[in-house]
Amino acid sequence: MSAQSNAPREKVLVSACLLGAYCRFDARTNADAALERELAERGLEAVPFCPEEHGGLGTPRPPATIERAGAAEVLDGTARVLTDTGADVTAGFVKGAEGALETCKLHGIRRAFLKARSPSCGVHQTEVDGKLVPGRGVTSELLARHGIELTSVEGRRP
Ligand code: SF4
Repeated sequence: MSAQSNAPREKVLVSACLLGAYCRFDARTNADAALERELAERGLEAVPFCPEEHGGLGTPRPPATIERAGAAEVLDGTARVLTDTGADVTAGFVKGAEGALETCKLHGIRRAFLKARSPSCGVHQTEVDGKLVPGRGVTSELLARHGIELTSVEGRRP
């Protein structure tokens, strides 16, 4: 066995729902077999994490969207995250984002593969005021602020 094969694999943070966890708001999964193959081929070790479960929001949970401005304002305390019935779940979303960052620090993680369009994990788009707009989710925004490289994953590929 070569010395290279004994080298520890690089750990990457991955949205838990992409790895088969039933942690979506509707208690379904976004399991993505293509992503798991890609990570294995690249020698990457996935560390699964669901910010919304970590934030104590429970599963299933009501769908939620970022209010007005966007995730940066949520982190800065000037915008909220609201459920479809208007409940304020901002604290849970921020706690989830902080948990994701702590997990990255704990494992020396510099890259994350995150579920597209989620109000937590979305990398390029998320819902603001119920409409899909350019911008990050709350967790993605915090990870980006700390220099974590983000890759958006659609999910549910065979
Ligand atoms: S997209 Fe993110 S917050 Fe939503 S279920 Fe998946 S891991 Fe959890």
